[in-house]
Amino acid sequence: MIKINANYLKLQASYLFSEIRRRTDEFQAQNPDKEIIKLGIGDVTRPLPEACIAAFHRAVDEMADAATFRGYGPEQGYGFLREKVAAADYQERGADITAKEIFVSDGAKCDTGNIQEIFATDIHIAIPDPVYPVYLDTNVMAGRTGSFHDGRYDGITYLESTRQNRFIPALPSENVDLIYLCFPNNPTGATITRSQLQTWVDFARKNKALILYDAAYEAFIQDSDLPQSIFEIDGAREVAIEFRSFSKTAGFTGTRCAFTVVPTSCTAYTDSGEARSVHDLWFRRQSTKFNAVSYPVQRAAEAIYSDAGRKQARALIDYYLKNASLIRKEMEALGYECAGGENSPYIWILGKTDSWAFFDLLLEKAGVVCTPGAGFGRCGEGFIRLSAFNDTENVQLAMQRIKQALS
Ligand code: PLP
Repeated sequence: MIKINANYLKLQASYLFSEIRRRTDEFQAQNPDKEIIKLGIGDVTRPLPEACIAAFHRAVDEMADAATFRGYGPEQGYGFLREKVAAADYQERGADITAKEIFVSDGAKCDTGNIQEIFATDIHIAIPDPVYPVYLDTNVMAGRTGSFHDGRYDGITYLESTRQNRFIPALPSENVDLIYLCFPNNPTGATITRSQLQTWVDFARKNKALILYDAAYEAFIQDSDLPQSIFEIDGAREVAIEFRSFSKTAGFTGTRCAFTVVPTSCTAYTDSGEARSVHDLWFRRQSTKFNAVSYPVQRAAEAIYSDAGRKQARALIDYYLKNASLIRKEMEALGYECAGGENSPYIWILGKTDSWAFFDLLLEKAGVVCTPGAGFGRCGEGFIRLSAFNDTENVQLAMQRIKQALS
């Protein structure tokens, strides 16, 4: 008899986005003439930078010619892309990372989801609340949690991000082995300072733990005092892995390209306490289960690092940041407490009701879709997330309607 992985039965139905869709569809059916504006989803709307499109076309043409055709590429990604990433994203910022430590992939979602499989099942995990759901669900699938009740899984240490701690969780009081952090944060938009991040790195070193640092939104950081990478922090090379993505940086959500940085000095331990290279384990995993990303996509990603590509990608980020600033300004003017939106595309807004009631209010009175904070974890209750990923005209119209609805 074929049996299922019983851990999958512990997973909660993906209630958040299906419920948003259900309520939105119902409203649309009752109001067929109302144009709904979606500020809920974290997907970009602007096209790829021209430099990326040109590189993409050139690479596709290369595939049409026997002299330049390419078959399977290196599982870790082509050297031309990894060299650029290491130099521009790390060495130029004083972070000691080499091309050998970069693993190109088809998304930070896959990498943040897959990485846990190289660690033991009985490790203790710390996960933020509220949180990007992939970290938690992939550990549930792997059997690292107990059952779910009162909005939480047994066996997980939840790192609470609240107004009181300005959405930067305190260090756990118990022993944890694997720690997920995400800055700039989805959904709160919060950023972490160098000294705060140093305390996490010191904690991981002291406890022989490992930090999984999701920096998918680092390109939105404006404040030069804030760290863009955990590898700008002393001692991080031994205790951290970093995830980056071209999705939000350069519009690659549909094209798919990202990378993960696993330093050669990053260490995990056997049952008997022997140190092993996490880099070697991840290389072994990727070369067994993955074949990198298509050649044209990697050439398109490489083009982000050209002079023109850098300017065009920067313009995209600035475009969304302007939207973010408008949303935050308008919501604050209406008397709502906001976080994020300055170094992040997300604005985390404290409603004056519960999350779903605020969602319904914005949908019914303004025709605007947001994301209820409660869907990201227990600590998200009472908040909504507005996303700056939309065309500016839509954001302006949405804010006008919200102003009318709420004032
Ligand atoms: N990490 C965070 C925090 C995200 O919010 C997202 C996407 O929304 C991802 C990773 C996924 O990125 P990618 O498109 O590279 O899979």
